[in-house]
Amino acid sequence: MVFIQVAVPVPIRQLFTYQHAVALPSGVRVAVPFGPRSLIGVVVAQQNEADVENINKIKPIEKVIDDTPVIDGVLMKMAQWLWQYYHHAPGEVLHAMLPVLLRKGESAQPSKQAYLFATEDGYMCEQAKLQRAPKQLACLDALKKSPMIATEARKAFSPTGVKALIEKGLVEMKEVMPSFTPFDYVSHLKVSATPVPDKEQAVAIAALNQQHHRFVISLLEGVTGSGKTEVYLQAIAPLLAAKQQVLILVPEIGLTPQTVARFEKRFSIAVGVLHSQLTDSARLLVWQRAKAGELGIIIGTRSAIFTPFKALGMIIVDEEHDESFKQQDGLRYHARDLAAVRAKEENIPLLLGSATPALETLNNALSGRYTHLQLTQRAGGAQRTQQHLLDARDQPVHYGITEGMLTLMRQHVNAGNQILVFVNRRGYAPAMLCHHCGETVTCKRCDKPYTVHKSQNRLQCHHCAATRAIPRHCEVCHSTELVTAGTGTEQVEKGLETLFPDAKQVRIDSDTIRGKDKLHTTLDAINNREYQLLVGTQILSKGHHFPHVTLVVVLDCDGALFSADFRAAEKLAQLVTQLAGRAGRASKPGEMWLQTHNPHHPLLQDLVNNGYAHFARHALMERKAAGLPPYISQIVIRAEATDSALVFRFLQQCKHILMPSGSTSPSVAGPFPCLMEKRQGRYRFMLVCSNEKRGPLHHGLRVALPYMQALPDAAKVRWSVDIDPTDF
Ligand code: ADP
Ligand code: ZN
Ligand code: ZN
Repeated sequence: MVFIQVAVPVPIRQLFTYQHAVALPSGVRVAVPFGPRSLIGVVVAQQNEADVENINKIKPIEKVIDDTPVIDGVLMKMAQWLWQYYHHAPGEVLHAMLPVLLRKGESAQPSKQAYLFATEDGYMCEQAKLQRAPKQLACLDALKKSPMIATEARKAFSPTGVKALIEKGLVEMKEVMPSFTPFDYVSHLKVSATPVPDKEQAVAIAALNQQHHRFVISLLEGVTGSGKTEVYLQAIAPLLAAKQQVLILVPEIGLTPQTVARFEKRFSIAVGVLHSQLTDSARLLVWQRAKAGELGIIIGTRSAIFTPFKALGMIIVDEEHDESFKQQDGLRYHARDLAAVRAKEENIPLLLGSATPALETLNNALSGRYTHLQLTQRAGGAQRTQQHLLDARDQPVHYGITEGMLTLMRQHVNAGNQILVFVNRRGYAPAMLCHHCGETVTCKRCDKPYTVHKSQNRLQCHHCAATRAIPRHCEVCHSTELVTAGTGTEQVEKGLETLFPDAKQVRIDSDTIRGKDKLHTTLDAINNREYQLLVGTQILSKGHHFPHVTLVVVLDCDGALFSADFRAAEKLAQLVTQLAGRAGRASKPGEMWLQTHNPHHPLLQDLVNNGYAHFARHALMERKAAGLPPYISQIVIRAEATDSALVFRFLQQCKHILMPSGSTSPSVAGPFPCLMEKRQGRYRFMLVCSNEKRGPLHHGLRVALPYMQALPDAAKVRWSVDIDPTDF
């Protein structure tokens, strides 16, 4: 009899011992009894008989699911790091690392799939025949390039479109066994031209070429449009030629088909794409193809870091500062940090790229822990967008836009150029209040004002998504004079319609852009100059390039200047710099204007006059002086419940455990209300633990956790541990 430690997907921070007739390799899935249930766990290790307690009570494994491990050696090392570093339950960690279908116990081996192929008639079909069926045309075009899984094609191009194509005999469906042949990149068969790198690019590429088969982390700090992607392309070419695979992590919204197409076009090999809108079976197929070595390049969002590879040669994290790399619930891991762990285990280089590096990353580069590569010029001779502050004080305002800004906008519109207007809120207005007594209409579950959505004629809470009809009178004084306060995208859009009746405009926020396809068609239409005015939220700042935009307008940046979150300034600087980078090209330089009531604010002055690189180095000095990350380590413990006294008491008790009376380190501050004090009817508080050295801080938590778990209140509140928090 062998004793085996299994990670079982339950929220308990330990492994569980089972018995089995023979030894099992680490990383295979097994079905095990757990209480009255049968759960699918992953074998982690064998256990010595001597270490097993209550040996007679050990239950047998019910079933072994895999012949070969689904979690290979490197992934198992990553899993162990994850549960130790993030103090998370091992079973939940391994669960999160597997594709959904494997969590459910489905076979990891490829099985026959229904694929769609273009038929001979399909290949011969003239475009004009499908002119009036654009979805069918797009589907056929895609299938001519490569067959697709039928369910995927139906999802991407509509089931009726696929059906029509099959009925016309242009497309056929066949059940086939995917055959995984390792990719083959032949470097002399250049499919698209490779531009000659400029001097800074050449230096970066040469440095990266020295790093093969070594664990090195590099930061590629390059202003927007400086040719970072071109550096990635040229740096990975020799790896692909040596049959090494490459993993590229990107933020969700930046996952444009343009980026994917650029990699496909350059190398003409299979590129796997992993994003949140894939079906479970498509995700599993990418997993299998990467593991088999068929995919040379995988481009994916945060969780793509868990993909198994046959021969991984390099990891790239593009836009490494992006907040989407940190998971904000459940297993709160940072994909950038995990990428570093993986690169170390694989003994390969990690490349972090950004125009606006996170201060953590910049600090590592400046201190010499990372190789620091810089691109200071925009590629192809394009000028940096000039940034200016527009003093909004005492100016007449129309729909949130000052008179001065309007004058500027008219000049650009009259010149036939595009304008990008950034507004940080969607909806019509961020609040509705009583003109008589000043009472705001609030969501009672979150204690926050409702956002007014005029198009739906409703109020919506952006914190819990509750909606209600627009009230007719004030709850307090019954006055019928309710007015809106502040400006959202919807209102700016309305205003611009009145102010610029002849200019066509488009609004881009999560209300108007549902699904990836809508975003892509809109972006294409913008670059085809179908619109002159672009109004939108953060989405506009993410990676898309608008060559015809010559003016970028930021309507309100004052909120971030006075935020309680110490990262607000960094986030604002990144946003503003990224927005500025969207505009202009060599023949059409761009300008950016920030409308503010604080034109002399040192942060804005520094950013506008000296740029992000200077701002960031200065911000680092301030962080150091103030004793804030990255110069100290932090852990936040959050708790929430409908009874605020209970939450407070629980965290008080946790604090006593973490910091027994008389001790001063680590420092535990709180309980404080979270920035979002109440959400969905639950009160939220937090403890902030910090220490100069990470080791003692984590050790303290490890010792304290079992005691915290044993507190009687621990079962009555919802609580979580957030290591290296980025959001409060
Ligand atoms: P980034 O990733 O930094 O935003 P890109 O790699 O997308 O920059 O480059 C911006 C534009 O400049 C792209 O159109 C790209 O094709 C072009 N480009 C990049 N490097 C060069 C180069 N060395 N010579 C000519 N054009 C270049
Ligand atoms: Zn009132
Ligand atoms: Zn709410």
